[in-house]
Amino acid sequence: MTQTIATELQLEVARRRNFAIISHPDAGKTTLTEKLLLYGGAIHEAGAVKSRREQRNATSDWMELEKQRGISITSTVLQFAYSDFQINLLDTPGHQDFSEDTYRTLAAADNAVMLIDAAKGLEPQTRKLFEVCKLRSLPIFTFINKLDRPGREPLELIDEIEQELGLQTYPVNWPIGMGDRFKGVYDRRMQKIHLFQRTAHGKKAATSTVVDLGDPRIEELLEQELYFQLKDELEILEGVGPDLDLELVRAGQMTPVFFGSAMTNFGVQLFLDAFLDYAQYPETRRSSAGSLDPTYPEFTGFVFKLQANMDPKHRDRVAFVRVCTGKFERDMTVNHARTGKTVRLSRPQKLFAQDRESVDTAYPGDIIGLNNPGTFAIGDTVYCGQKIVYDGIPCFSPEIFAYLINPNPSKFKQFNKGVTELREEGAVQIMYSTNEARRDPILAAVGQLQIEVVQYRLEAEYGVQTRTEALPYSVARWVTNGWDAVEKAGRMFNAITVKDNWDRPVLLFRNRWNLDQAIADHPDLQLSNIAPIGT
Ligand code: GDP
Repeated sequence: MTQTIATELQLEVARRRNFAIISHPDAGKTTLTEKLLLYGGAIHEAGAVKSRREQRNATSDWMELEKQRGISITSTVLQFAYSDFQINLLDTPGHQDFSEDTYRTLAAADNAVMLIDAAKGLEPQTRKLFEVCKLRSLPIFTFINKLDRPGREPLELIDEIEQELGLQTYPVNWPIGMGDRFKGVYDRRMQKIHLFQRTAHGKKAATSTVVDLGDPRIEELLEQELYFQLKDELEILEGVGPDLDLELVRAGQMTPVFFGSAMTNFGVQLFLDAFLDYAQYPETRRSSAGSLDPTYPEFTGFVFKLQANMDPKHRDRVAFVRVCTGKFERDMTVNHARTGKTVRLSRPQKLFAQDRESVDTAYPGDIIGLNNPGTFAIGDTVYCGQKIVYDGIPCFSPEIFAYLINPNPSKFKQFNKGVTELREEGAVQIMYSTNEARRDPILAAVGQLQIEVVQYRLEAEYGVQTRTEALPYSVARWVTNGWDAVEKAGRMFNAITVKDNWDRPVLLFRNRWNLDQAIADHPDLQLSNIAPIGT
């Protein structure tokens, strides 16, 4: 029996691929997601998964917005089967949804797909998310999108990734033409040219003609100029580029690069096939009991995201758990490492698009949604068997700061309770002024929406109306060598010192330039853009 479970577990782990897409708004994440689902056979026609932004623009009403937040709950993970693989695509909230959750989601991912608009190259949100991937040495696969439009030279884009992100690149395919003349890609893996035909609105899979580089038919199929250009560029790649080294890819030091157009479906399937081949399957994770392999037979996992549904009729709270080892089964009773209690996981959900489906089993790499209100906090470990605790999810550098003011002294208790609970839940970070006279908590967020959500929930759940007073800072750094170092440094231009929830010093700067100035002027200060959750 044990033997059977072990083998089953090994097989399930080996066929799982879990990833998140990191990109800047408008690069085409929604479009690519949809096309991956189309090729994965999970939907039959593109257009089935509506862009959240579109739905949101349709209304300005706050409650409507929250109903849609319900929809965003359900797209936390898209699970689909393709060929022999079981794929989990974790949604990284972007646009107005950008929040600390976006970063935390990467803690639950085994791979990242970095999606870049060929006309724009690297953009700010992509860089930020890349930094978080780098902390975890996540394997990164690059998809350069929108080749059907005029964009920057492929070699220049590759160079930008190498220089600015410090990643080695290996182009797995290479584009043939660009804009109106974008004809297809050369697949270096199989050494074939793929020439695509467009379909109406890219709703169905693109049809392609596949030929060898030296095939005589190429003269009829492709303009001579594009053919010669391709041959020249391939020569450059072979001449100067490194070989594909999967060990470097899995260590997050080399990125396989793909070119294509999500909208017209060019290169999407080639990308999916190569990605599944090269991607990291669920990996070993660090815990208090050392590194745990996913085939460790007991079920273990950790909470990486909490989502409160703000519709008052369905005031549920979902804890998203990344399964790390063993097999999860419905109605399982597990141990909760932080509280020492046991919890029965009775209403687990697997989430796909707009349906909530109940799960009976889940394996390492999968995500399950648990409905146990109030039980879980971000970073909590759940386990069966011997006690283990996974490394916690750190606090990420906030960029938006505002005093949160409770104008009504009679609501003091509710206000404090609400602020504490929302902080524990990971809705926002809380900091305080070093001026004892100013007691109002400072909300410290990665995205503006976090602040709105906190205010909304304080009113709806704790009955406290609040107002905010924005602070003019946009960069935060924890000072890891303590208060003495801060004192020694003295006053800094366009910066203030605040303390986080655990009384650790944090410097807030107006902008990056002020931060760079402080680094230059005070080499003794040790600054960090993340901090472990305090105790
Ligand atoms: P997201 O903000 O990253 O989710 O981006 P969307 O998927 O919503 O795409 C943003 C815009 O770019 C939309 O108008 C898409 O139709 C368009 N788009 C996405 N992929 C492509 C592509 O490959 N080519 C072109 N020309 N447009 C694209």
